[in-house]
Amino acid sequence: MDNDTWKAALGSPAEATIAAGERAAAPLRIVFASSEATPFAKTGGLGDVVGALPRALAERGHQCVVFVPLYNCARQAGVPLEPTKHHVSVPIGNETHLGRLWRSRLPRSEVTVYLIEQERFFSRDDPAEGKGLYQYRLPGGKMRDYEDNFSRFLFFSRAVLEAIPVLDLWPDVLHCNDWQTGLIPVYLRELYSQRDPRFQAIRCVFTIHNLAYQGVFWHWDMMLTGLDWKLFNWRQLEFYGKLNLLKGGIVFADLVSTVSPTYAREIQTPEHGCGLDDVLRHHREKLVGIINGVDYDSWNPETDPFLPARYSVETVAAGKAKCKTALQVRLGLPVRTQVPLIGMVTRLVEQKGLDLLAMAAPQMLEEDVQLVVLGTGEAVYHEMLKRLVHRWPNRVAAVLKFDEALAHQIEGGADMFLMPSRFEPAGLNQLYSLKYGTVPIVRKTGGLNDTVTDVTPQTLAAGTATGFVFKDYTASSLVQTVRRAIHTYHDEPTWRQIQRTGMLQDWSWRRRAIEYEQLYLRLRR
Ligand code: ADP
Repeated sequence: MDNDTWKAALGSPAEATIAAGERAAAPLRIVFASSEATPFAKTGGLGDVVGALPRALAERGHQCVVFVPLYNCARQAGVPLEPTKHHVSVPIGNETHLGRLWRSRLPRSEVTVYLIEQERFFSRDDPAEGKGLYQYRLPGGKMRDYEDNFSRFLFFSRAVLEAIPVLDLWPDVLHCNDWQTGLIPVYLRELYSQRDPRFQAIRCVFTIHNLAYQGVFWHWDMMLTGLDWKLFNWRQLEFYGKLNLLKGGIVFADLVSTVSPTYAREIQTPEHGCGLDDVLRHHREKLVGIINGVDYDSWNPETDPFLPARYSVETVAAGKAKCKTALQVRLGLPVRTQVPLIGMVTRLVEQKGLDLLAMAAPQMLEEDVQLVVLGTGEAVYHEMLKRLVHRWPNRVAAVLKFDEALAHQIEGGADMFLMPSRFEPAGLNQLYSLKYGTVPIVRKTGGLNDTVTDVTPQTLAAGTATGFVFKDYTASSLVQTVRRAIHTYHDEPTWRQIQRTGMLQDWSWRRRAIEYEQLYLRLRR
């Protein structure tokens, strides 16, 4: 059937539901390579993007195929998987490793997903034992990268390239994501294109979802790659004496994208460049920023099964009041409709501005507000939040775990949503918040800058205001902005206008798919 992989996408039943004008004029064949794709595997935004973008592109008539590793969590995702007869063989140093291809589909689509099975590399994740996709928990509670991550993702990268002839795929575009697939553009140009001209014709896009994670390994790992040592130089794979896979992706891909226009600019500066700003400046002609989309099938207050009351833009006041009461009851906060309730749902890591929250809390919590935080991550932030709850039990509630249902209930029940991030490549929660009438309070960085319009007399008059934005990464700036939001909250007509403007915006993947399509078309010869 494998030649039918492409045909399946074109002949999809979804086709009938697409208006003629919404189809792309020139259908493309696109292969995605990613270490995550929802619902098979997700640790963050990467999984969401690769789970949603191929589907949105397929709805425009493109033919998409996704490759992911077959982790334990993928087997438990509740999506049927079927083994194929196809295997790939990958040399790593002196050894050869075999992988078997399994097939599935992205839910609600005809997009084929190939999962690469390799027991030794990918069947180890087990949350109960503290084993994740990339890291495991040490006895003291700290997380550490798996020692063989280089081999694991070298294997995955080459397995994708090996699978192309095996499955007779030959895409127009090979779209790679993050450091885990950074070797694919390198192999494509340095090895596979030399072997077979059909590889030469494949254009390669590389997307950076978060520059802070680069996949940096010791230089002797070059020996495992089978690549020429001449590539280990400061313009290509070398990074301060080490091997940097993200850098490889950036240097060797035909086009590089990242997940918001502001982040695309920021990562070219020393402040946000994580040591790669000069490389990105050097390659700026091929660098593009496209903001992530939202899956409104999962995030829509009109249909959200997790909410105690569903609501639309017309019924937002009554609907949110019910959700707010239920949230206050659940978290043991005083049940008061009039008190502004600020929500946060986040990984508890430095990037997310938690040190700022800690510094701003004493002043912020002098106000008549409630703060609800859902998150998990570094122990220091767990402790910090516990201290806040201890000191202000009637104002602060913190739930320190991963809880999908509660994340939705916070979006539904909170009046405002706080994201004081130090940096934020795209950010999804502010987009959910806009849809849920939960007015975002954000720092002016990355995707937050591209998606939230600050409330000012001018933007209110123009009808474009959607949230509260602050620039300086200081506690006083945050406190001032929260005060500004609280003040506006008590001006009901203005608040309703801000909610309405956000709720009516469209941040769906349908629109983003058009931008990716334009990016791919730039590569057509
Ligand atoms: P990042 O990818 O940097 O973590 P994003 O805002 O792009 O940030 O995406 C985070 C996603 O993870 C959102 O869907 C958010 O709701 C979800 N999330 C983060 N922490 C939790 C948690 N503790 N419980 C439930 N969902 C969470």
